[in-house]
Amino acid sequence: MFEDHMHVTCACVVGGAGVAGMGFLFNALKTGTLAELARNGLIIVDASETPGIGSLGNYCITANSVGDVFIDCLRDPRLADIFEPLEYSPAYWRIRRQANSAPPLAEAGELMAEASQLVLRHIVQHYGVRIWHSTTITEVIWQPGQLCLRVETAGYERRIHCQGLVLNLGGRQDPRHLVEHLAAQGLHLSRSARILGSDAILRMNAVQLREHLVPFIANGQRISVIGGSHSAFSVLENLADALEFAGLREVTLIHRTPIRLFYETVEQAQEEGCQFDPQQDVCPLSGRVNRSGGLRYRALDIGREVLARSRIGKTGVGVQRMQTHQGPPGDLERAAQALAEPGAVIQCTGYQPVLPVLSHADGTPVELRQARGGLDSDANGCPLDQQGRRLDGLYLFGIGSGLAADPQLGSEPSFEGRIYGVWQFHHDASRVVIEALQARLRRLACAADHPRQTLIQVLDERMHLLLPGLAGKR
Ligand SMILES: Cc1cc2nc3c(=O)[nH]c(=O)nc-3n(C[C@H](O)[C@H](O)[C@H](O)COP(=O)(O)OP(=O)(O)OC[C@H]3O[C@@H](n4cnc5c(N)ncnc54)[C@H](O)[C@@H]3O)c2cc1C
Repeated sequence: MFEDHMHVTCACVVGGAGVAGMGFLFNALKTGTLAELARNGLIIVDASETPGIGSLGNYCITANSVGDVFIDCLRDPRLADIFEPLEYSPAYWRIRRQANSAPPLAEAGELMAEASQLVLRHIVQHYGVRIWHSTTITEVIWQPGQLCLRVETAGYERRIHCQGLVLNLGGRQDPRHLVEHLAAQGLHLSRSARILGSDAILRMNAVQLREHLVPFIANGQRISVIGGSHSAFSVLENLADALEFAGLREVTLIHRTPIRLFYETVEQAQEEGCQFDPQQDVCPLSGRVNRSGGLRYRALDIGREVLARSRIGKTGVGVQRMQTHQGPPGDLERAAQALAEPGAVIQCTGYQPVLPVLSHADGTPVELRQARGGLDSDANGCPLDQQGRRLDGLYLFGIGSGLAADPQLGSEPSFEGRIYGVWQFHHDASRVVIEALQARLRRLACAADHPRQTLIQVLDERMHLLLPGLAGKR
């Protein structure tokens, strides 16, 4: 590792040590690859004072997976010694007791944060990994063999030069995204509508929800929830619980495509009278119905109740539901009328990734291409720019980015979104990134040892800049 006050050179940077960044580090430890990744320097850069925590535990909702899914991320012989202190952790035992039911996210987040602290301490002590906490990545300058990060700690700027960057800085909800999403369906919001993100709403307790939303109820204004995902149904539940006694009688739910429910088997779906396409909605590997896109656990219960009785859970709060694409006749028009009214509009239409400024070495900006539900990337999480050129050495798979469903691992063909979640971060998503990063570091080291091959290497890495279709063909 080379460094002066302003410049540091290392092989890898993990930018963002939230749930996704930590999943990468856990998996590198489990697979025994951390030593190689850290050999020429690995720096973890995170904006928070205590990296390793991320946002998961901040949401006041139930997880969309059972407790055992979180425990499974810690269950590995190579990690046993590191996690020995968890035997005495109340957070660990709370999740163990909920192995077969969905725990509150606050509890799952607490366990993952404790486990992350143990892993971070271990890799600093045993692998010489460095942690730059309270440090914000402000810019990434990309060129084929190298990346340069501009980072800022308490107003002091430094640059890190590295060969690989695993960049997962969390997600954000841009209101312009909602406006565009609606406009694409010919729908427009009233000028006096107030857009609130589900991300903020789901972090609020009942008192905060009342503070923000009672004025709309008091003025007789509509509260509309836009989207049909887990977040939308979690929002419905939290609103009904917090606001029923403040006078909330009804919420409007506007979603584009049909609400999908998850079933373990085709038979179970048929027994419950679920309408599904046996080709498009069933995962060919597992036989599960709506495996990736279906509501699960608490959101599933709320979704069932909304579909069957237009009610939120056991509360007296009703739901006016409108499906805007191929929905029942009149739904699109009713949605247009509802959105034209003043009121609160809660955006549950997914996440965009938090990104620093991205630029080429000559200063021209890099704009990443979006895909439905995240970023367009190759199977290893290398993002593509607007022209379809792959940014080698940069890997993203956290919230707002995600990865496309892997046909080898299975998903329903009708699922068009990106896949992300704690288990994926700790297993399949980080595995492909570790393999790709390892291969890249070896390739670049080999090129440095054999300079005659360097020209071929550089040409190879730059080829797809000229001909995007040839990316990775050699
Ligand atoms: C409402 C909701 C519920 C969810 N429920 C589940 C669930 O039940 N089960 C499940 O598996 N998944 C769930 N997820 C999905 C996912 O697991 C979480 O969103 C998870 O927190 C995403 O991890 P992340 O690392 O991508 O982002 P985060 O956890 O947000 O971490 C981002 C990290 O980046 C750092 N950072 C931010 N900006 C910078 C910067 N400029 N420079 C340096 N560092 C920076 C932050 O400090 C933070 O540590 C849920 C998501 C949402 C939104």
